[in-house]
Amino acid sequence: MISLWPSLEALPDSPYAAELRKQPAGARFAAALESEYLRTRLREERALVRFTCTLALLLMALRGSESLLSALRSPSELSVFSVVLIGSIVLAWLAWSRSYEQRYLPWATVLVPVRNSLVAIQVIHVAAAGAYDVLLILPMLLIGPFYFLGLKYRSSLLSAVCTLASLVGADIAFPLPFSIAMRGGTVLIVSTVVLAIAARHIEKRLRQAFLENRVVAELAQQDALTWTKNRRVFDEYLPRLWRQAVSDERLLAVLVLDVDQFKPYNDRYGHQAGDAVLRRVALAIQQQARRPFDLVARYGGEEFAVILYDTDAAGAGGTAERMRRAVEELGIEHRESASGNVVTISVGVAVVSPTAGRNALGALQLADEALYRAKSKGRNRIELVDDSEYRLMVTGVFAKGELSALAR
Ligand code: GH3
Ligand code: MG
Ligand code: MG
Repeated sequence: MISLWPSLEALPDSPYAAELRKQPAGARFAAALESEYLRTRLREERALVRFTCTLALLLMALRGSESLLSALRSPSELSVFSVVLIGSIVLAWLAWSRSYEQRYLPWATVLVPVRNSLVAIQVIHVAAAGAYDVLLILPMLLIGPFYFLGLKYRSSLLSAVCTLASLVGADIAFPLPFSIAMRGGTVLIVSTVVLAIAARHIEKRLRQAFLENRVVAELAQQDALTWTKNRRVFDEYLPRLWRQAVSDERLLAVLVLDVDQFKPYNDRYGHQAGDAVLRRVALAIQQQARRPFDLVARYGGEEFAVILYDTDAAGAGGTAERMRRAVEELGIEHRESASGNVVTISVGVAVVSPTAGRNALGALQLADEALYRAKSKGRNRIELVDDSEYRLMVTGVFAKGELSALAR
């Protein structure tokens, strides 16, 4: 297993990386992450939970018809059995229902220990009358909660303790032969302890794997130098957000930002210093685009692209200007720059209203055109194009048909 530790600092805002740094895994996560983890586990274990709950219900139903047929049960035993059956019906129903993710776990946390304890009492009652083979159900009552019912570790432990306590109580009320009680009890207690330890170990590994999977997924989306999103994420996100904007009838703003005269910077201060500048510029840009749908990506070299959802020309222009100013205010010396003595950026902004007949890449091209204009007008400035202007662009290809013609 490769170590993720060196990469964790590249994810300063990641709750998964923060949790991995904390260690040791196995304890509860911070609240929001804990509920995400539990939801993920529940989703992953749904097929198993359905199978187990359905099987348990079938077994209960079979036993119910058997009891009714023999009609030998006392009223108290039948009422206990009804509680067990209703509990099993509720669990099986929740396992198959649409509200599984919200409702199953809270209900199962209460119902499983109650049901299993009641079944345990019934089992001892029946066994005390001489039907010892029914004792074979007991290991299932103890193991099930740990491995097959999607419960939290602590709830499984609680269920096992309740079931064992009920067994002891039932054995006092309906005593089994001493040797069977001693031998059976010892085997059950020892195996429950071993299984609980194993389940705890598995729980730790699952938690660790959950965090590592999320961290790896985040790293795969990240640009290694600037810690912004990478080009792949941008290329996937732009058409997705475009379609969203088409159906929501919202505006979309695409910004392309380029560091001014960066080649001369590298030539004078060295590539390493250039890398450090890119990192600081990226951070400054990123701090201006923090709404949930905003995306900042390194588009290539010293160029960044930003998508702002549901943003009009005034909003996008304002954000672009704040980004430009933020970079300028970093005050990074650049003696080779013709646009001042510090590192600056130029920004091209395109604000468009997406429609089904237009193409997302057209918006990017418009922003590129605007960037070109900003460069030719002297750099360290923003230029904005919006819908009213796009037809006037020199090479702007915004309609789908024209774009595919270009690709040919
Ligand atoms: P302009 O103002 O017209 O954008 O001028 P420019 O010099 O920035 O434009 P040009 O495209 O000619 O140069 C881009 C330079 O960016 C070339 C390359 O040395 C530098 N660069 C690209 N990627 C990296 C990188 O990852 N690290 C460093 N240090 N430099 C990079
Ligand atoms: Mg440049
Ligand atoms: Mg460039």
